Amino acid sequence: MNRVRLLVLNAALGSLDYSVPEGMRVEPGSVVVAPLGPRTVTGIVWDHGRLPGDEVDASKLRPLREVVAVPPLAAPLRRLIEWSADYYCARLASVARMVLSSGGALGGPTTMTEYRLTGGTPERMTPQRAAAIEALGDEQGTLRELSEIAGVSTGVLRGLVNQGVIEPVSVSIDRPYPQANADHHQPALSPDQLSVAGTLVNAVEARKFEPFLLDGVTGSGKTETYFEPVAAAIRMGRQVLVLLPEIALTENFLTRFEDRFGAAPVQWHSSLKSKERRRAWRAIADGSAQVIVGARSALFLPYANLGLIVVDEAHEISFKQDDGVRYNARDVSVMRARFEGIPVVLASATPALESLHMANSGTYTKLELPSRFGGAQLPAIKLVDLTVEKPAAGRWLSAPLIEGLEARLEAGEQSLLFLNRRGYAPLTLCRNCGHRFQCPNCSAWLVEHRLSSRLACHHCGLETKPPETCPECGEGDCLVACGPGVERIADEIAELFPEARIAVATSDTLGSPERAAEFIAQAEARAIDVIVGTQLVTKGFHFPELTLVGVIDADLGLEGGDLRAAERTYQQVAQVAGRAGRGAKPGEVLLQTRHPDAPVIAALANGDRDAFYAAETEARRDAGAPPFGRWAAIIISSEEEREARAAAVRLGDTRPHLDDLYILGPAPAPLALLRNRYRYRFLINARRSANLQEALRGWIEQQDFPPGVRVGIDIDPYSFV
Ligand code: ADP
Ligand code: ZN
Repeated sequence: MNRVRLLVLNAALGSLDYSVPEGMRVEPGSVVVAPLGPRTVTGIVWDHGRLPGDEVDASKLRPLREVVAVPPLAAPLRRLIEWSADYYCARLASVARMVLSSGGALGGPTTMTEYRLTGGTPERMTPQRAAAIEALGDEQGTLRELSEIAGVSTGVLRGLVNQGVIEPVSVSIDRPYPQANADHHQPALSPDQLSVAGTLVNAVEARKFEPFLLDGVTGSGKTETYFEPVAAAIRMGRQVLVLLPEIALTENFLTRFEDRFGAAPVQWHSSLKSKERRRAWRAIADGSAQVIVGARSALFLPYANLGLIVVDEAHEISFKQDDGVRYNARDVSVMRARFEGIPVVLASATPALESLHMANSGTYTKLELPSRFGGAQLPAIKLVDLTVEKPAAGRWLSAPLIEGLEARLEAGEQSLLFLNRRGYAPLTLCRNCGHRFQCPNCSAWLVEHRLSSRLACHHCGLETKPPETCPECGEGDCLVACGPGVERIADEIAELFPEARIAVATSDTLGSPERAAEFIAQAEARAIDVIVGTQLVTKGFHFPELTLVGVIDADLGLEGGDLRAAERTYQQVAQVAGRAGRGAKPGEVLLQTRHPDAPVIAALANGDRDAFYAAETEARRDAGAPPFGRWAAIIISSEEEREARAAAVRLGDTRPHLDDLYILGPAPAPLALLRNRYRYRFLINARRSANLQEALRGWIEQQDFPPGVRVGIDIDPYSFV
């Protein structure tokens, strides 16, 4: 090959052709550095004929500079990049950048410094130093890691380095990960679990594409069950990817994984330090990383030898990425499995309607775990009609819920209250003039956070101190909180039960893996009586002493009225209810609602999942909504209101007129201002027969937009704001 076409990582450049200098070996997928003007660019050698570009005369081609020392991206991954760009109307380069997302990974091997004891003693021994030396033993790690082990500051350790008691050692950054042992500790599976595990093990051994829906009630032991095909893949020397929706869930998973396999899996998520990212990326690419547990971005990594993908809690909306390349990791994981020719397992107690439809129509193989492991019973769900059981003014807990909490506190059992609202109150206003505190950058109210004494915008991250006086009328001490957030519920419980140990569990309080781990440890040690949390606590957690779940406002999710509102309410409530009664003691769930007759609320109370899914399926069919039709959204935004509106109107004027494509808009988006950008929206509803992506591309590409205008296309959107 003496002439190659590169997919250049810079989206504006697209593809460029180069010549291959004598002696340089490249193949499709090779990552290379090429000259561009006075600079260089990184690119991927692409398959001949699969990447459009300008036909440049051979004599004008410049030679490639070098080949980066990483394995070439394999053909299945190149097909996945092409498919994702095509399906999500994204640029190839933007998708490819997600594959090479660890910038540092492309550099050559380097070393890092770790520290260990030398065996010497310091000139001056203090009790603190003695304790630190004792605790360190033969541990080796970065100063930060050692300071955690020794329970002293890094400053104390540096003092010991200066005295020669601790010495630096240079280690390769790419040191191997500990090996997982497929037979470390195999639990005895129940007959149901055994049968599901057997099917999945066979699929891994068959080495061919097969999508599974693992539909198992909360507490049925889905994790223990899918660990068996994971073990099978490890025995075959193949890699496994387990996708989890939240970092907060990883901690629990890591412990269980280590119990089962004797070593931790390799992690991939956004809070990894850059060195860890690089180490993980390279181990994934050379095949030495066996099992990778990660957030959605782990889906695009260059696995050398993938044998199985598991998507746990597959219904979770956090698998949908809403910026950059707007993809849904649940759907892309099925495509990756197809290109790789391997099985993929979507596990959930409350599958997405789309997934269930695929299973019922035979496209996915359905595997069921209909009962809880070890004889635990699913909790009974009771409705509390708030129009009858009215909480006191400015209070949110009804009498039955208060009684339930009291009984649990007396019995020494745990309770969990669920409200999907961070902070103290969703709206703050001035008692004197009625001024409402709004984000200057977004069309959204500022949310009061009392724990951090801030007013915060949950859309752009803006935070300010609550003002002493009203900025509108100048009155002092006049702010009133409207409506409840989890912090306010926690206050209410503290007032009712001053003795109770209460924990607020949200992304504000459990944002890092360490804090999540600490929370879990405390809850397991029963140092917490009442957990008040957002959707973060609805899934994954297994606290045997938790016997009461209270849903503060079951109607909240139905308010926005988007396409999936009922489904999401069903999933959230069923999941949070699933936290109750997982141990020996039975659980109880109280749902506070103003609409006890709403179909989704009634279905929850009756435990009638099938009826809910059947009714919801019919509603979707009538509306031409997924899986029967498809939706897409186009968001036009600009810092200038006029410019955004003009661009949207102009695009609207050139809309395609097709029988199987309905285009609504343009209209100001529900979030009309976001991060200082004004937003207009089109919603597109397509019949199955329409070629949605082709129609959108043809429509948008023929428009010239001013430089200040951004056009975002969202295929299969989950967010309708
Ligand atoms: P799910 O994810 O389906 O809600 P989990 O996988 O969390 O359920 O399992 C619920 C609990 O039962 C966990 O504590 C798990 O360790 C335990 N468990 C499940 N299956 C087994 C088994 N075969 N042997 C021992 N413990 C099990
Ligand atoms: Zn904002």
